[in-house]
Amino acid sequence: MTQLFKDKKAAKLKQPVWCSNDLWATLVSSMDKGSLEVEFVFSKAERKVLRKRKAVKVSKWAEKHRVLTMSVLPGVWHNDVTPYLAGVMDAAALPFVREITLCKTPQTGGSEAVHNFVGYCIDRAPGPVLYVYPDEKTAGENSKDRVLPMINASPRLRSYFTGAEKDKSSFRINLQHMIIYFGWGRSVASIANKPIKYAIADEIDKPGFDPGKREAGVIDLIDKRLTTFRGVSKFFKISTPTVESGNIWKELNSADVIFDYHVRCPLCSMMQLMDFRGIKWEGGSKADPKEIKNKHLAWYECEQCGGRWDEHIRNKAVQHGVWMARGTKIGMDTYLEKFRPADIGFHIQSWISYFVSFGEIVAAFLLGLNDPIKMQDFLNSYCGLPWKDIVVKKDEEQILAHKNDLPAGVVPRDAVALTCGIDVQMVGFWFTVYAWTKDLSCHLVQYGYITTWVDVETLVFHTRYQVEGQAADRTMGIWRAGIDSGGGKSSEDDWSKTEEVYSWVRTNGRGIVFAIKGASRPQVKKVNPRVIDKMARGNRVIPGGLTLYFLDVNQLKELFHWRLNRTFEETQYMSLNADTGLDYASQILAERKEKDRTGKSQWVQIRRDNHLFDCSNIAAACADPEWMPSLSFISDSQARGKKRRIINKGVK
Ligand SMILES: [Zn+2]
Repeated sequence: MTQLFKDKKAAKLKQPVWCSNDLWATLVSSMDKGSLEVEFVFSKAERKVLRKRKAVKVSKWAEKHRVLTMSVLPGVWHNDVTPYLAGVMDAAALPFVREITLCKTPQTGGSEAVHNFVGYCIDRAPGPVLYVYPDEKTAGENSKDRVLPMINASPRLRSYFTGAEKDKSSFRINLQHMIIYFGWGRSVASIANKPIKYAIADEIDKPGFDPGKREAGVIDLIDKRLTTFRGVSKFFKISTPTVESGNIWKELNSADVIFDYHVRCPLCSMMQLMDFRGIKWEGGSKADPKEIKNKHLAWYECEQCGGRWDEHIRNKAVQHGVWMARGTKIGMDTYLEKFRPADIGFHIQSWISYFVSFGEIVAAFLLGLNDPIKMQDFLNSYCGLPWKDIVVKKDEEQILAHKNDLPAGVVPRDAVALTCGIDVQMVGFWFTVYAWTKDLSCHLVQYGYITTWVDVETLVFHTRYQVEGQAADRTMGIWRAGIDSGGGKSSEDDWSKTEEVYSWVRTNGRGIVFAIKGASRPQVKKVNPRVIDKMARGNRVIPGGLTLYFLDVNQLKELFHWRLNRTFEETQYMSLNADTGLDYASQILAERKEKDRTGKSQWVQIRRDNHLFDCSNIAAACADPEWMPSLSFISDSQARGKKRRIINKGVK
């Protein structure tokens, strides 16, 4: 921040006029020509910045002045480790580039490259910086664990500290000549009302960046902060993608140009764009993911010479790589010079990263074959691609096509556990009972409606189900049940139901029946147990506390439909008993995935009665290895059960 005094009188009065960088540039050049009569008071830091120094690229500056502290490879920054980031940093510094989108996978160093850019700006082109993260905690952590250590670890950057400890607070770092702010998505106050020259929005696909009920999204809010510095500002948008309608995928695809990193085969010199299809391993989909990862059993095959790359050769190939404009054969430098785009995007995938092995990538893929959520993680975190929301419209007939010839109430012979989901109504209870095999295939054994708590007790503690083809005394009872405790949405009645469920589970649950609650926000895991010791209403103490199982209902709904799409030969196949009726199918289809006006798809209730769908998802949560891994009946999610039942494909 420079204080510019219009005349000597003002200088005496110490009335500063804040000077924008544009004006600054004009003034500096005018001063050189001696044509402008103004008096400046420069701080020491400003004099350092203004000193005539040889222009240097950001990537070169980083190798001189950036010291990594929290890294697998601590010490001075080396462009050799992540060569592709040098191009990102240097392109971002070009005077005509305003917006830089990094769509990247974890462990590729994208965020570090942007910290380097900020470090460079502190030393070479100061101006107010705003970092925005999804939430307050992440913002505080990045300030404390990334940005402050970056300044501290570099003698050059350290010299810009004021010396006062109060200038290093969690959400604001005051340097001698500029300020670095840290904001987060949900707090408009932490973003608004500051003129900003450099904005960095990191993890923009996380929920904190959702517009929520606000008119404008967080990205738009940040963009408004750059108005004062329009023409010299930079806006970095960084994230691992999630779904197609997520922020980063939209930002990347609206950029003027997308750059992909092409590598050069050290064996035959051919330039190529690496792709998951080039990664090879023995054993196909039957391979053991742990072994592939731990024993490094995967490699990359050059598309030209078929040569086998291990990670060492891959790193060499990456070191000789170049960024190219997508859909062209034009290298980045040429493209930038020729077209001078203001808004540029980079797509960074895991296989070019020094920190990611081919085995790790293959393991993630293999795990995804048996789990849609892990498959999404593979696509997002390794391929850098969004999950495609496939909104499949099913009808009742398609659901009922999953019926087999087992009558209601009979358990398939390969089942290892029965789980039950119960949905509480103002009067009575809906329930479903599913049988599970070791490979998490499931079969609907029974569903229905019961009226009293005594019925619930009879169902979960005293009902014995006959096992298919076994003697009459071979029966199975329910192993685990979940009962929805609602959440007291608004009415007094809802609250009393919640309290009724809590109290019943505490007295009668016997370690078999657990209280369930739908989580209000997305969770990392489908099931997240939390002990509560007070009632949400009235703050009344719950003696001895109660473990409440929070479910990420959206993940479970996805999983349900994914299982319905599995074939009989695959793991996690779902079947229904022969007596399953239209009422079941109709309740399952009471919710449908639809796209809203922003293109984001979400579950919408299209019919009132969706209880059996809720019950089914609770029953699935009870069988999920995430419930409490140590108490799971399944030890290995890769286990494949034997199946040989005949399927009745017709609808009765
Ligand atoms: Zn080759």
